[in-house]
Amino acid sequence: MHKLEQLNFENTFARLPNSFHSRQTPTPLPDPYLVSFNANAARLIDLDCEEASRKDFAEHFSGNRMMPGTDPLSMIYAGHQFGHFVQQLGDGRAILLGEIRNNSAELWDVQLKGAGITPYSRQGDGRAVLRSSIREYLCSEAMHWLGIPTSRALCIVGSDEEVYRERIETAAVLTRLSPSHVRFGSFEVFFHRGQHEQITTLADFVINRHFPDLVGDSDKYQLFLNEVTQRTAKLMAQWQSVGFSHGVMNTDNMSILGLTFDYGPFGFMETYDPGYICNHSDPRGRYAYDQQPQVGLWNLACLAQALSPLIPAKQAHDVLDGYAMAYHQHFVSLMSAKLGILNTSPLDIELIASLLRMMQDSQLDYTRLFRSLANFSSSENAANDILRNQFIDREAFDAWADNYRARLLLDSSNDFERKIRMDAVNPKYILRNYLAQDAIEKAEKTRDFCEIDLLLKLLEKPFDEQPEKESYAAAPPEWARQIEVSCSS
Ligand code: AMP
Ligand code: MG
Repeated sequence: MHKLEQLNFENTFARLPNSFHSRQTPTPLPDPYLVSFNANAARLIDLDCEEASRKDFAEHFSGNRMMPGTDPLSMIYAGHQFGHFVQQLGDGRAILLGEIRNNSAELWDVQLKGAGITPYSRQGDGRAVLRSSIREYLCSEAMHWLGIPTSRALCIVGSDEEVYRERIETAAVLTRLSPSHVRFGSFEVFFHRGQHEQITTLADFVINRHFPDLVGDSDKYQLFLNEVTQRTAKLMAQWQSVGFSHGVMNTDNMSILGLTFDYGPFGFMETYDPGYICNHSDPRGRYAYDQQPQVGLWNLACLAQALSPLIPAKQAHDVLDGYAMAYHQHFVSLMSAKLGILNTSPLDIELIASLLRMMQDSQLDYTRLFRSLANFSSSENAANDILRNQFIDREAFDAWADNYRARLLLDSSNDFERKIRMDAVNPKYILRNYLAQDAIEKAEKTRDFCEIDLLLKLLEKPFDEQPEKESYAAAPPEWARQIEVSCSS
């Protein structure tokens, strides 16, 4: 494990030509202090956790002091925002310090989010607020422990510097780790400028670094697009299966590695509602929960267009044609697993769909209902009364329960083992908005960061019973409905 001065920086993105980035040092942040440190993420870059107690730790992760070997820069990209193409975005408040090669030979980008103005800041102030930094920090780790690909979060550093949003807030810097920060928009920027050489350079960079098996293949660009397509399809199925809504699925927030990326006004759905909109700034629901799978494909079409100088149209179409099937297969398999079904068949979709319809009609909590389904008794009807009584239409539930029982019989499934299987895929603890909100308010009002650390620990084991934290799995309080999250962060 390394001290800060010994981290093994090796900056491959910085060595790309200047058209891909701008060298940029962070803007100093006054009197930074450590808000929270995540030991699990520290291990990814071989950072000795003891380093977090150094007096100057916050100086390093506010961007006030540079570690040896860093080569700080902001990346350029474009993007389709809410369907409209914006020719140039780029890291308006994020600075990539460099990449760290760990002992397992993995390369991790280390990025400071909220580190000040960059050439891509447009009208923005280059800062992130403590509120949104806490949300991204907790959610990216929660997603990781749910088994969903995501960027990671090393620490949050705060400051009393004021930042103006809908109200006055304070600034924070989130240190984000990711195998890559290349987005769909990283290709789009060059396509729209007609800079085809840059598209080739970036595609080769990404293939060399992340898809080495494709190097040397005559169809490598098509295979690369296929990888992104397949990963995105799987990611969308994973989001849907846990009730996660990203909120701002613009192409600049879509990772080339199929990771959950750039957390903004995200939300975990509570009451099951396919039209759930987590982002207060998206009243028309372009990125509503049930739109996500098709938006994933729409975004991939934008990427395919940006890669069109490298991939013949027919081949790109063939790749995109594979998306729907891949998504559907992952979705059915994940949802069947949530029902404890062993040998999934395409017919299981009806059992899933009818349960979801009943949940919608009865306005049930998505996470809690699936968790409680593990206690379904396939032999004793009376044992299912607690479950049954949650549904408004009891007859519909009884009919569904008969079908479910019959389906479980087909697997020769026993209830005891099924419960173990189901508890391992239906989380008990998710990052509900109100839980994050509690942690944010404690942090903002009294500089008490304990709740952040508590949630971080809780969400590390989302599938385990944690009896002393039972209340965190309870139905959300009434005030949770009033929480509004928007793009402003
Ligand atoms: P986002 O919605 O966070 O994905 O951001 C969209 C674009 O706006 C990206 O280019 C960001 O870097 C930029 N941006 C967001 N907030 C700020 C800010 N406070 N200052 C500068 N740029 C920002
Ligand atoms: Mg973004």
